[in-house]
Amino acid sequence: MDKGQKLRAIPAMDIVLGLEWVQSWLESLGRMRVKRIITRELSEIRRSILEDDGEFTPDDFRDSCLNAFASASRPLLRRVVNATGVVIHTNLGRSLIASEAVSAMSEIAGHYSNLEYDLKAGARGQRNSHVEDLLCALTGAESSFVVNNNAGAVMLALSALAKDSEVIVSRGELVEIGGSFRIPDIMELSGATLHEVGTTNRTHLYDYERAINESTKMLMKIHPSNFRIEGFTSSPERKELSRLAKEHGLIFMEDAGSGLIVDGEIIGLSSNSGEISIRECIESGADIVTFSGDKILGGPQIGGIAGKKKYIDRLKKYPLARALRCDKVTLAGFEATLRLYAQGKYDDIPTLRMIRRDVDGMKTQAESLAEMLRQKVKAEIRVVETEDATGGGSCPEIKLWGYGVAVKHETYGAGYIQKLLRGLDVPILCGARENEIVIHVRTLQDCDIDIITASLAGVLNA
Ligand SMILES: *Cc1c(COP(=O)(O)O)cnc(C)c1O
Repeated sequence: MDKGQKLRAIPAMDIVLGLEWVQSWLESLGRMRVKRIITRELSEIRRSILEDDGEFTPDDFRDSCLNAFASASRPLLRRVVNATGVVIHTNLGRSLIASEAVSAMSEIAGHYSNLEYDLKAGARGQRNSHVEDLLCALTGAESSFVVNNNAGAVMLALSALAKDSEVIVSRGELVEIGGSFRIPDIMELSGATLHEVGTTNRTHLYDYERAINESTKMLMKIHPSNFRIEGFTSSPERKELSRLAKEHGLIFMEDAGSGLIVDGEIIGLSSNSGEISIRECIESGADIVTFSGDKILGGPQIGGIAGKKKYIDRLKKYPLARALRCDKVTLAGFEATLRLYAQGKYDDIPTLRMIRRDVDGMKTQAESLAEMLRQKVKAEIRVVETEDATGGGSCPEIKLWGYGVAVKHETYGAGYIQKLLRGLDVPILCGARENEIVIHVRTLQDCDIDIITASLAGVLNA
């Protein structure tokens, strides 16, 4: 057959839509989506005839369409099993939300609420009022505000407080965070001018002092996230920066990044974790502190802002605040999470519970998972020590040791097994070393155990 004949063998859309195996999908996916998928499949065949000397075969075409229909019928945003041992995994949705918070979110999502209604006064209310007091109580701040995320919080604060002025930042703190958050870019968007001081590894108080001029409005400190320079480094203490700012009538702002609400030691982080709480930032004299809700705080995605009332009031009134406002479901989840903090129920917050997990408990869990897998899965299985991580750019100094189960197959390499596990209905993401995959137990939920056992048996026993 020449190419022309091969192209003529491709059926027309109307013919395909009449085929028996298409009928049930027309109903479950809808005619529009079925047509889109068929169009894509047919044009792929056309391309392969023209470029790769392919041809139309009815069976391959049917299988390929049925695969595409089946995958189109599943939600694209799906739960996965996190067996990586990275607690705040930015690519896997960061923090899990506490079950109390999930209930609150579902209640508010499915019902009308007093989101912007003051029930006492019978009049319009403030959307942020539900979390403001709690945040102030927990952080010791005079006032607080929440927006969509921390990038938005930084953007809002810079725009409202330092537009058309200079903001002094240490060069060592100008790092890219989470792949796409860059202070110089946010600064430019906000209309503030970045004034870098010091060198990558050392910045002294006098560097800031010398940089101050009549256009300066703000000194800014940024949590360097998971970026660390070892050895010969230094930067001034928060208290010194705050004093310098005060002497010159400047605002001292800190982007605290991960958002530790309580003292790190209370939740099992050692004093050298590299994390400091919002309360400590406020007590050291910060006028404004911003942080994320879904990193170490362990709540939904928000950008928290805590600080002096006179500045926070300006943020609330600034037009950009409207564009960055939080959704009601998120606010409900955030309020519920803060209540858990206020009650000291840290172990009800999944992120904190997973970071605090006891090593012996993880060892026992790994041993029992290994035993289950040995009974069901044809592979070499052993318990191993793992190096886990808090993730999300938090606690870079901490080595978080944990336990896991290594699974080694006779013929499949680790990369291939990982690929198979990613393709499952509930995909499993795990670690790998040499020729074995590693299931880290720290980040597993109870319901994941059966999924892992069944999935590994399905994938490896074939
Ligand atoms: C993560 C992080 C951000 C960005 O926060 P989002 O909540 O993801 O917008 C900004 N600054 C620092 C220091 C961070 O660690």
